[in-house]
Amino acid sequence: MQIPITLIPGDGIGPEVSAAMVAVVDEATDGRIVWDRQLAGATAFEETGELLPLDTVESIVRNRVAIKGPLQTPVGSGWRSINVAIRQELDLYACLRPVQSLPGHSLSRYENVDLVVVRENTEGLYAGREHEVVPGVVEALKIVSRKASERIVRFGFEYARNEGRKKITVAHKTAVMPQSEGLFVDSAVRVADEFPFMQVDFVKFDNVVMDLALDPSSHDVIILGNLDGDLLSDLCAGLVGGLGLVPGANIGETTAVFEAVHGTAPDIAGQGIANPIALILSAEMMLRYVGEHGAADRVRGAVEQVMTEGTVLTGDLGGTATTAEITRALAAAI
Ligand code: ATP
Repeated sequence: MQIPITLIPGDGIGPEVSAAMVAVVDEATDGRIVWDRQLAGATAFEETGELLPLDTVESIVRNRVAIKGPLQTPVGSGWRSINVAIRQELDLYACLRPVQSLPGHSLSRYENVDLVVVRENTEGLYAGREHEVVPGVVEALKIVSRKASERIVRFGFEYARNEGRKKITVAHKTAVMPQSEGLFVDSAVRVADEFPFMQVDFVKFDNVVMDLALDPSSHDVIILGNLDGDLLSDLCAGLVGGLGLVPGANIGETTAVFEAVHGTAPDIAGQGIANPIALILSAEMMLRYVGEHGAADRVRGAVEQVMTEGTVLTGDLGGTATTAEITRALAAAI
């Protein structure tokens, strides 16, 4: 059976890591993915005058599954963030970022890191309600609703249950924002009642950050708001060796868009040296989402083999390989 999936190569290093991901996934699936290529971001703006063309949205809605490279939001396009816009347009309310140590990687400080960041994706300070009250004073509104809070917490608990994880941390800042953060925590308390078999801890966000820096095994599944989730994701990426290794998914009721945690990396774009593993592991998540567990296992196995061998690694991992070279090594491992 062929599986149609929307592919948005993206901006910056996006086309390079997307090409690598396609080569590896095609190898793992014997070419059964039908890539429906679409534009978004700065590339789309240059070619069509639109940052998020209707064709792209329709393709994602039709296929229900998409994978995208990082997108740049050009200054002057009239948009705040194309990435946030896609999440809001498609109501991709859950941002799921599993952070796991990979074998044989000497640049990371810790071994056996196995954390999952579950980030609310549609509101909080990322709702983007900013305005200048009077010259020199800007106000940004943080939106927190019970509906969105309960939805993300329930997603996190269900994910933990399905993945056999036993401990959940809800991170918050109720001391300084008792109303907005209080509503988030209160929503989490209500949802936690539905899962009496799960251990749940309510921990101040700053304490979670320090706990993880000291001992990454101190937490397991961490559920948190939009901005805190963004910050914690990069911290967690640092725990396992950097942004080149951490995958992600934006998941809604009917649709899922997979993407690496990293951005467009303009400092190395176009040089053919970007690490494609983060997007390839995002594709592993995507393959599991569509039920292709065999192909997902092959992708995972190839990444672990290449990392263990340690002879073909990109610069961010201390190696000298190009994107094309590591892609060939991964495809050969499959
Ligand atoms: P953006 O504005 O799109 O978020 P950024 O430069 O602020 O871009 P990232 O793109 O996440 O943020 O990059 C942060 C740093 O990590 C950069 O030095 C970049 O080169 C590096 N980096 C990110 N992704 C990768 C990758 N896949 N391979 C190698 N280095 C990467």
